[in-house]
Amino acid sequence: KPRRKAGIGPRKGETSLLGVRLTHPDRVLFPDQGLTKLDLARFYEQIQDWVLPHLARRPLALLRCPEGRDGECFFQKHPRAAIPQRVPRVDVPGKEGSKEYLYVESAADLVGLVQAGALEIHPWGSRIDHLEQPDILVFDLDPHEGIAWREVLRVARTLRERIESLGLTPFLRTTGGKGLHLVVPLEPDADWDRAKAFARAVAEQHAREDPKRLTANMSKARREGRIFIDYLRNGRGSTAVASYTVRARKNAPVAVPIRWDELNPALRADRYNVGNLPRRLAALRRDPWAGFREAARPLDAGLLESVGVQ
Ligand code: ATP
Ligand code: MN
Ligand code: MN
Repeated sequence: KPRRKAGIGPRKGETSLLGVRLTHPDRVLFPDQGLTKLDLARFYEQIQDWVLPHLARRPLALLRCPEGRDGECFFQKHPRAAIPQRVPRVDVPGKEGSKEYLYVESAADLVGLVQAGALEIHPWGSRIDHLEQPDILVFDLDPHEGIAWREVLRVARTLRERIESLGLTPFLRTTGGKGLHLVVPLEPDADWDRAKAFARAVAEQHAREDPKRLTANMSKARREGRIFIDYLRNGRGSTAVASYTVRARKNAPVAVPIRWDELNPALRADRYNVGNLPRRLAALRRDPWAGFREAARPLDAGLLESVGVQ
């Protein structure tokens, strides 16, 4: 038998993808679909040109479920031994000194996250090149149970109008869960405090117009029977699930950018999943978020003033 050289090639029961070692490639991560670790790694390999432009170079939080979705899952912000060394790290200054965060640059890095059992990937709204200046805002529409889907659609549309009337351009994505995200591209200019104050003012003004159905207040009591416009995704260190990444939920749903004209009563937040997304992407004539970067504006003094933020 040929002797296996240390560190070269997969061992028995392992495989490798894009040069990254995958242990337990046949481990079922999503039992409802029989979706394995290798399947998920191949999914990211296949859609890498869609997922990477939005995700690359952002500090990450991970939801790791090493035994799969039905096993124990935990949120993790800082690298631990299980994360392959090849996944890049960045020092992020904090109150008690710097802490390391993971980020990705390539499809191989994504495979490295899958190797560590990352079933969800949640990036910051800024990139490591300008950590203190977010380049997106996220308005996260969270319907309380029992809210009709057409209400969620209506609020997505009216909030879009409000944001556009301010001179910004929101883009829409399904979350793979229950709600929708409106994502607004920014020139990285204003800091986190300003970004959050701006998002809060917009959310509160919107909620005030329809207080029976909307709230910008995260308290459980206020959210009862309403849609919560969650602006809290826009603080330093806060995250929102990345476009084109999977959720650790039934059917392996994926958070997916869509065009505004795709928003209709038949579309649900969990419409797309690991199984059917590749077909959608193959059939698309153009990027549903075409023009995203070009639409970026700085949150300048005039914009802040227009919503009453000093
Ligand atoms: P849904 O449409 O079901 O609301 P969602 O991704 O918007 O899906 P939320 O519960 O609204 O889910 O959370 C919004 C974002 O906040 C998440 O995508 C995640 O990045 C972050 N988040 C939520 N809960 C946690 C948590 N316990 N730890 C870290 N980040 C979290
Ligand atoms: Mn949400
Ligand atoms: Mn939320």
